[in-house]
Amino acid sequence: MAPPVRPRFRAEGRAALEAELVLAGRGWVGRRLQPLELGFDGDGRICAVGRNVRGARRHDVGDRVLLPAATDVHVHLREPGPPEAGETIATGTVAAAVGGVGLVGEMPNTVPPTDSVDRLEEKEARVRGRAGVDVLLYAFPAEPRSVPSLARRAGGFKLYLSPTTGIETVPSGPKLAALLDALGQVDLPVVAHAEDPGLFPTGIAPTDATGWDQLRPAEAEAAAVARLLRAPERLRLHVAHVTVAAVARAIRERRLSFEATAHHLLLAASPGRDARFKVNPPLRSEAERAGLWEEFRRGRVPIVASDHAPHPRAAKELRFDLAPSGVPGVETTLPLLLAKVAAGELALPVLLQSACDRPARLLGQPLGRLSVGHRANVLVVDFRAVVRLRSDRLRSSCGWTPFEGSEVVFPVEHWKDGERIVEGGEYVGRPTGRVVRPEFAPGVVRPTPEDGA
Ligand SMILES: [Zn+2]
Repeated sequence: MAPPVRPRFRAEGRAALEAELVLAGRGWVGRRLQPLELGFDGDGRICAVGRNVRGARRHDVGDRVLLPAATDVHVHLREPGPPEAGETIATGTVAAAVGGVGLVGEMPNTVPPTDSVDRLEEKEARVRGRAGVDVLLYAFPAEPRSVPSLARRAGGFKLYLSPTTGIETVPSGPKLAALLDALGQVDLPVVAHAEDPGLFPTGIAPTDATGWDQLRPAEAEAAAVARLLRAPERLRLHVAHVTVAAVARAIRERRLSFEATAHHLLLAASPGRDARFKVNPPLRSEAERAGLWEEFRRGRVPIVASDHAPHPRAAKELRFDLAPSGVPGVETTLPLLLAKVAAGELALPVLLQSACDRPARLLGQPLGRLSVGHRANVLVVDFRAVVRLRSDRLRSSCGWTPFEGSEVVFPVEHWKDGERIVEGGEYVGRPTGRVVRPEFAPGVVRPTPEDGA
């Protein structure tokens, strides 16, 4: 693979260079919002960053803010799958575009699972000509011996340590050790769902989100993470959906990557919360939620992701024990957190690191910064445009959200490879989304001291 592309942010870029298009607004420069202009070249890359950039065309967004588009490393688009699954690659990627996400990492627990080269190729064919944003496909390594051939085609791997939607048997003991060994031989990110089902107590029949938390306790998460932290050094491990601060600290001490989701950061397992709040790992207590938020706010959570699981509304209105686990989020994660920035509860650089820069580095993509050489995937945001989230306005076909009524800031515009795909908050793009694989080895993705706020 090519060496890492890490162009530094240059406030004064090659302003003399003639750009195809200049986007003029404000941006985060030198620890504050200042006037900023971005030049896009004819290949959909950023070719100039600074002031007074010359270009053939100019688009001025006034005092609105230019931000890099986000990357969501954890999304379920449910295709292939049964028709009642609802979401498709087409609907889910349009939802991503409207939510400011230009690249999604698509999980392999579809029906059938993405566990062979043939199935990867079949999924790639479904993406081409239908996806609104770019898609990186994770493979499911059912056997250690399948890893080398999958690694030549996939963008990453997803490892399940507990059963979940579409995955019934999980490796443990020597088989898990062999799998971790095989995954340690390849230069791709390995995203792990870490819960140890051996530590789920019996005799509990949950009827609300608090019961679900008791059935799949944080101790089961901590134990599974402890097992993963004994994996070979070379493994490019990324732990999905960490729910409690103590587990976050344990992973950070090993300098490995992990994510927190918007639902674990913003929602708690209050008594009476029905199956719309049923998710794996579960929502935790308010005290644990607040502890995780504090880690995030201080810049100590490397990546924020959605774990977008767009179960249809009808399925989530079933009795608690019958309903599937998972909540939608690819469309709402960035808007919810932009609203926290607008409210003064979150520093913009912390959000940009965790939603844009580090997830792109984990997936080996020249994205996530407004830097020369990066792809021209840019959002225009108006932080005064705070609205209440309404599920009837969402583009995901699932038609509901656990964040109904929460404050959100949706991007006004979303530019992908120098072309506008969202205008006035509405999707106006074409299905030009590509299948991408890491262009450079995943970086060591961890918070650095200057990220702290
Ligand atoms: Zn997931």
